[in-house]
Amino acid sequence: MLEELYQKIVEKDPAQPEFHQAVQEVLESLEVVLEKHPEYRKAKIVERMVEPERVILFRVPWVDDNGEIHVNRGFRIEMNSAIGPYKGGLRFHPSVNLGILKFLAFEQVLKNALTTIPMGGGKGGCDFDPKGKSDLEVMRFCQSFMSELFRHIGPNTDIPAGDIGVGGREIGFLFGQYKKLRNEWSGVLTGKGLEYGGSLIRPEATGYGAVYFGKEMLKTRGESYQDKICIVSGSGNVAQYTTEKINQLGGKVVTLSDSGGYIYDEEGIDAERLAFVMNLKNVRRGRISEYADKYPNAVYTPVDPELDYNPLWNTKADCAFPSATQNEINAKDAQNLIDRGVYLVSEGANMPTVPDGVNIFIENKILYGPGKAANAGGVATSGLEMAQNSAFTIWTREEVDAKLHNIMINIHAQALAASEAYGDKGNYVLGANAAGFCKVADAMMAQGVV
Ligand code: NDP
Repeated sequence: MLEELYQKIVEKDPAQPEFHQAVQEVLESLEVVLEKHPEYRKAKIVERMVEPERVILFRVPWVDDNGEIHVNRGFRIEMNSAIGPYKGGLRFHPSVNLGILKFLAFEQVLKNALTTIPMGGGKGGCDFDPKGKSDLEVMRFCQSFMSELFRHIGPNTDIPAGDIGVGGREIGFLFGQYKKLRNEWSGVLTGKGLEYGGSLIRPEATGYGAVYFGKEMLKTRGESYQDKICIVSGSGNVAQYTTEKINQLGGKVVTLSDSGGYIYDEEGIDAERLAFVMNLKNVRRGRISEYADKYPNAVYTPVDPELDYNPLWNTKADCAFPSATQNEINAKDAQNLIDRGVYLVSEGANMPTVPDGVNIFIENKILYGPGKAANAGGVATSGLEMAQNSAFTIWTREEVDAKLHNIMINIHAQALAASEAYGDKGNYVLGANAAGFCKVADAMMAQGVV
């Protein structure tokens, strides 16, 4: 029955493979859930959840520093508002298209449900590449993007945040333009600067959260991060704060990457070396290869397009934190991880592992935290930023971090309990999908056919 539904989804939008992938994984988990809940089938909850409530697609024209005009395509997917206003990030990357954003929005709905904060799911972005652009070009682009988006969002309607290519600089420009057009200050975006309504710990939250989730998984085996060798991919927001938290909890991070290649530093990327990476990536906007120029003991390996695996995932380690992008771990990488001793994978990125890779993790019974559970700390802390904005207050670093930590403990507990309730304890994919889905489904049932 679900197979038939899946085929219909594929036929309807054949050019959206990432969306099909995200839906398929959830549908597989839902077989057992729907057996116990025939009322969800009758109410066509799944059919409704895979169809966005609204899709906005718009032109984004902007002028570069040489006076040349460019035209990009902007999107906002308002996927599901059953449990709260649409919430989810904006991605600026040349690969952005409707299928990628629909996969992200669909995952976001279930993820947000797990946070226990009332937030629906959305996602948006643009096929604009901020790499190599001047600050002024990025500003003009953001202003043009917001000149259309502002009509569709609002603090009680749809609250975007950052994602790949959208960090503090972009959120600032977007917020400034929204405020100008609306003539109102409101918490319409999260990930704002601390000076204008941002929350302490929001920049850290996704990375910290993925490490906290891993900590809970380790606890189920009576273990901690002490002296664990960790491999991290990416070198952006999520990767940086994943590294920081692992260091604080006694582990050692030996890799980071970007789209050009990866570095391996056997001595560990400690606080001083991480500060170098943060300056390199967030201020100078350079490439990770420069790490090996600065620290000659480290080895830089450029991406080799001929290889059918990523050598980063073939590094001897205990724990892995994919923190770059979707499908960055293929089946061969997943097997390499296991062969090289990795027994914990906590996903900072969204859907970084292909389905065959996920199956390899599950069959080998490693501690595997899928993105929609493990990286939910980012959006959860965005929810905390919204709460502070609407109460016109600011919480301390310690308060926000403690709330984030509790939320991650809670998400882990929910996913573990649901995996047990549906007959496969420790399968966090099943647990996260089942727990997130049931919450949204119950809200949709209560609200009628809308
Ligand atoms: P950033 O833009 O800060 O960093 C992204 C990093 O991943 C960069 O190092 C980038 O390298 C690398 N990367 C991006 N695309 C590719 C690609 N196609 N191939 C290889 N490397 C790539 O983004 P974030 O750290 O915010 O996001 C990372 C992941 O975490 C994404 O999957 C995102 O959806 C997810 N996430 C982020 C949250 C957040 O709060 N920011 C919340 C939850 C999930 P390069 O600079 O060379 O492109």
